[in-house]
Amino acid sequence: MKIASIEPIILRVPLQERTFYSSQSKFPERNSLLIKITTEDGIVGWGEGGQYGPPGPVATCIENVLSPLLVGHSACTPVATSERLYAYSRDFGQSGTYIEAISAIDIALWDIWGKILGQPVHALMGGAFRSKVIAYATGCYYPDQPWSLPEMLRDLEVEAGSYVESGFGILKIKVGLLSVEDDLKRVEAVRRSVGDGIKLLVDANHAYTTATAIRMGKALGDFGVHFLEEPVTPEDLTGYRRVRDSIDIPVAGGECAFTRYDFRDLFVGQCIDIAQPDICVCGGLSEFLKIQAMASTFGVLTIPHVWGSGIAVAAAMHALAIIPPTPYTANPIALQNEPVVEFDRKHNPLRDDLLEEKFDFQDGCVSVPTGPGLGVTVNEDVLNRYRTTL
Ligand code: MG
Repeated sequence: MKIASIEPIILRVPLQERTFYSSQSKFPERNSLLIKITTEDGIVGWGEGGQYGPPGPVATCIENVLSPLLVGHSACTPVATSERLYAYSRDFGQSGTYIEAISAIDIALWDIWGKILGQPVHALMGGAFRSKVIAYATGCYYPDQPWSLPEMLRDLEVEAGSYVESGFGILKIKVGLLSVEDDLKRVEAVRRSVGDGIKLLVDANHAYTTATAIRMGKALGDFGVHFLEEPVTPEDLTGYRRVRDSIDIPVAGGECAFTRYDFRDLFVGQCIDIAQPDICVCGGLSEFLKIQAMASTFGVLTIPHVWGSGIAVAAAMHALAIIPPTPYTANPIALQNEPVVEFDRKHNPLRDDLLEEKFDFQDGCVSVPTGPGLGVTVNEDVLNRYRTTL
C-alpha cells in the first residue's frame, strides 16, 4: 500500500472576546496544522503537527521538503518512515519545525496502518492497559480582562467550580504571570472553592528563575498540589534538577522537548518526575514509544501534554492507553502511578466540532477510541469552515 498524496491543512479560529493568557502570551486564536495522507487505494490517514507555534512553516516543510521523500513509498511502515525522515533532517532539523512535521506524518501513517489492519492504533502499539483514562481539566488561565485581583479570583472560583460540577476530579491552574504572592492567592481561591477532595496541578509555563520556582514549589505544598509543571525554561536542565531536589511536590516537564534525545537529557539529568511529551511535537507516536520506554526505565511516569484539535486528542488517547502504571502496582490510582489525560477546556471548535465523534467523558474519565486507526472521522464541512492559507 503506497502513499499517493500528502496534503497539509491549516485551520484557524479567532477567539475574539474569548482570548486568554498563559504566563508567556495571549492566545488570540486557536490554530492547528493537520495533514491528510491518502494511499493509492484511497485510504485516508490524519495527523497533526505542532502546538503553539505558527503552522505555516510546518506546512511548508511537509509540502516542499518531506512529501517528495514519501510519495510512492509504503504507507504501512510508520516507525521505519519516522526513522528515515529524522535521519534525513538530522543535520539541520533536530528540533522545532522538522520534528513537528515528522510528528504529523507519523500520526497519519499510524492511522492508515490501523485502518488497513482494522485495528485501533493502541492495539498496534502493543495493547491497552486501560479503556478509559482519568482526565484533568486544563483551564484556569488568566483572562484578557479584568486584571484586578479580586475580580480575577471570583471568576476563577466560578470556572473551577464548573469543572468539578461537570465531573472532573483534577484541575490544572496557570501561574507565572503575576507575583508569587498573587498567584498563590489564585491557587488558594481554587482550593477553597473546590474543597480538599479535588486534586490540583499547577503550570508555570517556564516563567520562573530557579530561586522563584523553589519558593513557589515550597509554598504550593500547603495547598495539596500534585505536580508543578514547567517551573523553569526547557533549556535549563540544571535549574530543573535544583528545583526537583528542593521541593517536595513532583516536577513535570517536556511539552517543549523534541525526540528521545531531549528526553534522554531530562532523564539522565534527573530533572523531572513526570514526562510530558506532546505527541504532535515530540516526533509522533513512533517517537513516543521510545520516550515512554526510556521514561519507565528511569522510573518516570509519562503524562502526555495534549493541545490542539480532535486529531491531537485522539493520538494522545491511544498513547495514554498503552502507558503502564509507573511503577507497576495493582492499585495505581491510589498511588498516582497511573497516567491521566490533559483535557483542555478552553474554547476550541477544532477540538470539539472537527470530528464526527465526541470524546466520551463520563465519571471524570475519557474513553479511548476503539475504531480502526485513530478511531475518529474528520467532518469535512467543519474542516473547510476553518481552513485557511498561510
Ligand atoms: Mg503546560
